[in-house]
Amino acid sequence: MSANTEALHLRVDNRDALPVVTPLYQCSAFTSDSPFFYSRKGNPNVSEFEQVVAKLENAKYGVAYATGMSAIYMTLELLAPGAKLVINKDIYGCSYKLFQRTASRLDLTLLILDLSTKSGIRQIPRDTDMIAFETPTNPFLKTIDITAVANHVKSTNPRAIVVVDNTWATPAFQHPLECGADISLHSATKYFSGHSDVMGGVALTNNDLLHNRLVDGRFYAGTILTPHSAWLLRRSMQTFNVRMKQHSMTTLEMADFVRALPHVKHVYYPSVDPTQLTGYGGIIFLDLQDDLVESYSEFARTLRWFDTGTGMACVTSMVAQPYSGSHASMTDEEKASSGIGKGLVRLCFGLEDPQDLKSDLLNAFRTIENLHH
Ligand code: PLP
Repeated sequence: MSANTEALHLRVDNRDALPVVTPLYQCSAFTSDSPFFYSRKGNPNVSEFEQVVAKLENAKYGVAYATGMSAIYMTLELLAPGAKLVINKDIYGCSYKLFQRTASRLDLTLLILDLSTKSGIRQIPRDTDMIAFETPTNPFLKTIDITAVANHVKSTNPRAIVVVDNTWATPAFQHPLECGADISLHSATKYFSGHSDVMGGVALTNNDLLHNRLVDGRFYAGTILTPHSAWLLRRSMQTFNVRMKQHSMTTLEMADFVRALPHVKHVYYPSVDPTQLTGYGGIIFLDLQDDLVESYSEFARTLRWFDTGTGMACVTSMVAQPYSGSHASMTDEEKASSGIGKGLVRLCFGLEDPQDLKSDLLNAFRTIENLHH
């Protein structure tokens, strides 16, 4: 036997190691007597993360993906060609593009409605196969009554699939499945990671059939979360609750502060209620006053404690312009019809001292005001 052969097969006997956290199973394959088969199908770190999220949202199953977009993509895979898909008008730009592209590829009937209104819900066709929306919405933070939507579509087509993107509300404040949704989706890249250092997505469901179809689809498409990302996400979830509490308190305080500033025309904050969205944290939008609409770049550049870029929902604060960022993939006409102009600003509040964030914002607003006048 050569040293090379022995070295190749050498393993530490870790059966009695008993670590206090689950180690990283950075492996593609498992031996044939393992309950895990192949990391494209399942992996202990992925399972643990799925179970943690499912627990927090009171769901039976979680299915984790490489990104939030792949969670949405794999949900659309549940549709057959020619199906009828309804989406909400205000929605993350890449989701909007994905729905459009999938609709044209699969010859779906795609209907875009304003589901934040009762009349919008009444317009949902009786033969809808899937309805997908965020609540609160990106942008504008409008809330959609999940129970009303689910009751409406299920009354005529009990097999219709109601999909809620719960990324912004998070399980800390909203449980869509308890309101009648079939699938609750998350970009885990946001608050689950919370540190802008890992990407992931997860779909939650209580439905056995949907769960089997999602797991099967993920296996064949190869869209599963990597073990390392799952390990990082699981670690981040240990502080999820305390982070969300702090994000929520800071956001309330900052929204009040920004609302009172003369440079701001309007502040968007979602409507919180005792039954659906029971709290809120992290992200607000504001409209700059008309004479400051062209000053976004200077505003963002002046801020010291707000990072720029597409990231958000993290321990550090972020500033973004949906027009050139999250909704850049929409055409100018689509942006105009959704009311997404250059003066719309997104602020995500991190865990900094709110007093520092206030001084920073005030300084940036004063700077663009002086430049303008
Ligand atoms: N859903 C919402 C509401 C989002 O804001 C985003 C990203 O910004 C996504 C889905 C996509 O997630 P990911 O970037 O992890 O693919």
